[in-house]
Amino acid sequence: MNIERSIPNFADPLLHARGLYIGGQWEAGGGIPVFDPSTGRTLAEVPDANVSDAMRAVEAAEKAAAGWRATSARQRAEILRRWFELMTRHAEELAHLISLENGKALPDARGEVAYAAEFFRWYSEEAARIPGEHRHTPSGSHNILVDHEPIGISLLITPWNFPAAMATRKIGPALAAGCTVILKPASETPLTAYAMARLGEEAGVPAGVVNVITTTNPGAVTSAMLADHRVRKLSFTGSTGVGRILLAEAAKSVVSCSMELGGNAPFIVFDDADLDAVLDGAMVAKMRNAGEACTAANRFYVQSGIHDAFVAGLTERMAALKVGPGTDPGTQCGPMITKKAVEKIDRLVSEAVSRGARVHTGGAPLPGSGFYYPPTVLDNVPVDASMASEEIFGPVAPVYRFETEDEAVRLANDTEYGLAAYIYSRDLKHAMRVGKRIETGMLGINRGLMSDPAAPFGGVKQSGLGREGGVTGILEFMEAKYYAVEF
Ligand code: NAD
Repeated sequence: MNIERSIPNFADPLLHARGLYIGGQWEAGGGIPVFDPSTGRTLAEVPDANVSDAMRAVEAAEKAAAGWRATSARQRAEILRRWFELMTRHAEELAHLISLENGKALPDARGEVAYAAEFFRWYSEEAARIPGEHRHTPSGSHNILVDHEPIGISLLITPWNFPAAMATRKIGPALAAGCTVILKPASETPLTAYAMARLGEEAGVPAGVVNVITTTNPGAVTSAMLADHRVRKLSFTGSTGVGRILLAEAAKSVVSCSMELGGNAPFIVFDDADLDAVLDGAMVAKMRNAGEACTAANRFYVQSGIHDAFVAGLTERMAALKVGPGTDPGTQCGPMITKKAVEKIDRLVSEAVSRGARVHTGGAPLPGSGFYYPPTVLDNVPVDASMASEEIFGPVAPVYRFETEDEAVRLANDTEYGLAAYIYSRDLKHAMRVGKRIETGMLGINRGLMSDPAAPFGGVKQSGLGREGGVTGILEFMEAKYYAVEF
């Protein structure tokens, strides 16, 4: 194992947790190399679970289910709260681990740990507030009681771009609701998931309540688990393409699905916007995680009057960013996750440029080892360039000029996605009116960052089904049971 770029406290047992975690047991093994995107070298290896390992995880989740369901909300809350505290105590180690395996700059990784931990705190509080309902029938002669019960064993599948937060956003509400879970993290970033499972163990999560498996064969492993009638929930975060496959698979056993899928966020700037505020917001909306975020601004629609000043300001800020390994002090833009990701960005940029886009900074992959693409600003991008319909998922800001509100709305909605959108205008009434016309699950008005554990996160159209976080997130892991009661 090459640990050349390991962090000084790599000896911490937390960072060495990397076996399959099934029924409270750690099962060492190999088969999946984890790469350091800043060098392309292997950082560690984790086990490669097969279908029978996955079925053992279902078995373990089933064995723990009755006991966990029977715990009081307060007991579940206190375990989640301890898990939050442990994540907070180990924030620096977790941030380094995320930065190492994902490549994101340390400030982004630190932000992710705080955000991720907050889901445990939020759902420790929500566990005690699971809603119920009593109504009279309209005739007044009967009573309607509605109780919420844990939905059952939940399969949680997460992407590599937020290895901690996408896991806690699912584990938090699932555990608070009383469900046992199997987490399948992305193979690119499994170390963070295993480290968090170690902390969960320390926090007092009983054996089998949280199981973690990594695999290079997610299709077969997932299909086998979904075919087992004890698995009642699939909560997936990832690409729309994989989401579609999983929805079809879940349909065979009518498994409840929550889907957090891809995005193609428009960032609309009106002439009257405050330029400094716009640039601050644009940098966050574009460059959090070096653009590898589902909420990342993917299309900048800028009104004619402010267009040139916006392009100049954004170019100055993007060109000044320090690119380098995520764990290096001062790095603001880390490497992309894989070579393939760099190739995709290169393809999108080259196509736009060949069709007339102008490069103001960046515009080509960086040479050398590691998967680097520099911060890039383009304008004069054709509105039907591939990058206007595909997720760029990198540090590239394409700017499109528009004249009228109707044109901006039409362009913004011209996509199969509907996850996030941003609007900048000094006239709040105007911004809210335009916002009503945008097909999106989340809208930042004069704000470049919208993610908050207390808010419902999710998309419309082909960006997903259901919401995570907020007060409703817990209900994704519960079934309503109606009691018709005579009293
Ligand atoms: P991906 O869809 O390739 O993979 C996501 C997860 O699904 C990984 O764990 C992967 O191993 C697994 N997977 C892949 N094929 C599978 C199959 N056939 N059956 C079962 N599981 C399978 O996505 P990614 O590249 O890891 O992540 C980037 C994508 O995730 C982007 O599209 C991004 O927009 C999206 N995303 C969405 C949100 C959201 O909240 N809406 C958040 C983060 C990322």
